[in-house]
Amino acid sequence: MNNRVVVIGAGLGGLQCAYMLAKNGMDVTVLEQNAVTGGCLQSFRRGDILFDTGFHYVGGLREGESLYPLFRYFNLLDLPWLQLDEDCFDEVVLGNRSFALASGHERFAETLTSYFPHEKEGIRRYTDFLRSVGEHIFDAFQPREAEDFYSTSLFARSAYEFLCETVSDPVLRDVLSGSSLKLELNRDTLPLYIYAQINNSFIQSAWRLRGGGQQIADHLATDITRMGGLVRTRASVTRIEDKKGRATGVWVNNDEFIEADYIICDIHPKEVMRLLADSPSVRKIYRKRIDSLEETFGMFTANIRLKANALPYLNRNIYIHRKGTDLWSNDQLLTTNDPRVNSLMVSFYPDQPALDLLTPVRGSQVSGLQGEAYETFKAQKAEECIRLAEQRLPVLRGAIDRVYTSSPLTYQRYTHTAEGSAYGIRKDWRSPLTTVLTPKTPIENVFLTGQNLNLHGVLGVSMTSVITAAQLIGMDSILEQINGK
Ligand SMILES: Cc1cc2nc3c(=O)[nH]c(=O)nc-3n(C[C@H](O)[C@H](O)[C@H](O)COP(=O)(O)OP(=O)(O)OC[C@H]3O[C@@H](n4cnc5c(N)ncnc54)[C@H](O)[C@@H]3O)c2cc1C
Repeated sequence: MNNRVVVIGAGLGGLQCAYMLAKNGMDVTVLEQNAVTGGCLQSFRRGDILFDTGFHYVGGLREGESLYPLFRYFNLLDLPWLQLDEDCFDEVVLGNRSFALASGHERFAETLTSYFPHEKEGIRRYTDFLRSVGEHIFDAFQPREAEDFYSTSLFARSAYEFLCETVSDPVLRDVLSGSSLKLELNRDTLPLYIYAQINNSFIQSAWRLRGGGQQIADHLATDITRMGGLVRTRASVTRIEDKKGRATGVWVNNDEFIEADYIICDIHPKEVMRLLADSPSVRKIYRKRIDSLEETFGMFTANIRLKANALPYLNRNIYIHRKGTDLWSNDQLLTTNDPRVNSLMVSFYPDQPALDLLTPVRGSQVSGLQGEAYETFKAQKAEECIRLAEQRLPVLRGAIDRVYTSSPLTYQRYTHTAEGSAYGIRKDWRSPLTTVLTPKTPIENVFLTGQNLNLHGVLGVSMTSVITAAQLIGMDSILEQINGK
């Protein structure tokens, strides 16, 4: 029977694919190089505080919303989710002005209209459009020729042009896109589909997870094991073996061979090419195409432990942009190792005296930095983050007990993500056919999944897992299972 599946990488995408395939009777083994599963969902402990690495919040978890049917299927709805304030789940600070983004399309539009009454119509058009993209989320699962889909879909339209066509007040444009450090706001490249689908899910409703993102990975791994699958850690795949266009299995830690009928790669496609370095089935032109894909920015994070009772918990995220920052320009991400900070996300931890400050950093800004130079860069960057955060939280500095930092180099090292990028490959609306990868590879039984394909983030990766698993068990069958629950 052709049902032995090896999944490389126990990030969200790998675990979700394994979950679907195990549920459908396949013999699944997940191989994770790290000591713990989760990839960007990993949590880590410093003293008595549990910090998150990547994931901080999700959108659309209420019945009828985008993520709900997927998380219901993956048995993840019962985790201790905490809804962020409906009146203000995200606060956008532009210089010395502050704006609330409210949950639910109606309330979202009403709140923004109170700041920008002259843009009432534009706000309505914007909100209605995003809502309709969310309502058609299952369209992404309909099988069709990639060429047709990508040339006609919202992947082939510019997010920035949509924003400019829909609202004319530049301050409102910044407010609408001001909570978008969860995307790479790139004026030249960002496809409308990514902007609309992700932002819409957060407008529906926004949620933190009490106790950290690791629980999502742990829950999936437990269910996979319960269904007969195997999840192994410290199992780095060092090579994919293939014969006449079909993979036969993988080498683990260079010394153990595991046979497989199918291989699913929840790792960066450039890393897949490395594992297939000796394969004659992968033509030079395909390798060149994958290697030439550009990466989104990475993230610098200051995980901050606070003194007890020194700063009250805020049940919202705060996005702070220095006055005059062009949110859609890449120029704000300097290519040198300059520690200046123009945009920042502040995210609090429920039940713990702690918060995170996150700011975009390019992999190239930190590449080659070592030893003291790297430590100095991180210390300066953390200081710049704190300084910008103080504009909105003046008591922050005095409330800090301890600061821990990470950068794109951390992701490069721990998840093998090219350039340590936060959201994987940069998709480009001008060339969707080459930048939006499908699960297929030149080797017929090797498939891709994860954030480097369609959409990143918890919602995007969950959608892509369905598209990948459908290659093996059929979309109709999976959709029946998702919708029939
Ligand atoms: C700083 C940051 C903040 C974020 N915030 C949010 C947020 O608030 N909300 C949200 O929805 N999304 C957020 N995201 C994005 C989200 O976390 C990711 O899109 C998603 O978790 C990626 O999952 P993945 O499975 O595609 O990849 P990954 O999580 O990268 O998993 C890949 C796994 O493969 C393993 N691996 C790599 N090579 C090998 C090998 N050779 N052998 C075996 N294993 C291997 C890695 O160790 C890793 O565990 C954030 C990301 C970052 C970086």
